[in-house]
Amino acid sequence: LALKSLQISGFKSFADSITVHFDQGITGIVGPNGSGKSNLTEALRWVMGEQSAKSLRGGKMEDIIFAGSDSRPPLNRAEVILKFDNHDRQLNIDRDEVEIRRRLFRGGESECLLNNQKVRLKDIVDLFLDSGLGKNSFSIISQGNVEKIFNSKPVDRRFIIEEPAGVASFKIKKQQAQQQLQQTDDNLQRVSDIVHELS
Ligand code: ATP
Repeated sequence: LALKSLQISGFKSFADSITVHFDQGITGIVGPNGSGKSNLTEALRWVMGEQSAKSLRGGKMEDIIFAGSDSRPPLNRAEVILKFDNHDRQLNIDRDEVEIRRRLFRGGESECLLNNQKVRLKDIVDLFLDSGLGKNSFSIISQGNVEKIFNSKPVDRRFIIEEPAGVASFKIKKQQAQQQLQQTDDNLQRVSDIVHELS
């Protein structure tokens, strides 16, 4: 699944709107310490549904909104827009280009849009389940996580591989089927109790 562009404004150190275009091949982002490289990857994770402020190095979600600098006052809104090339229909949407957008206002209101239509955050998260690009997937490997992969127990490493391999959605469906089976069993039990009482 190919990223096309990432547009950020009011997010962490990016007060003004900036757009990163991901052309063919590899895109490298370089800059001195503190220049915002990690903030960029956090913007990517956030727009794809990250819900943990802590994992975005903040205390509360509003900490992602530009907090002001020596020369600029704070902003009231953070917005991130991510565009994908979906020619191969890897995302289950019948469009060549898919755009997701997330906004957060000071005060807490937030908004998610999928191709300019309002959706729930869950719809965005579900869209990436099994694409290998989910917010928890290891397609985004931040500092320290390389060792985590090598040092993790086999069972945890298996989990890391399962998401991009597309196993996660089958596991969820299996769980749902098992719950339905359990309910049906309970119903059967009740019917047999009633039959027993009547006979
Ligand atoms: P390193 O190479 O050290 O990891 P980096 O290029 O990854 O650095 P980041 O960690 O992305 O840099 O950026 C950190 C900068 O972002 C800090 O200067 C911090 O003050 C700034 N920053 C973080 N949150 C906000 C915010 N809400 N408003 C304004 N600036 C912020």
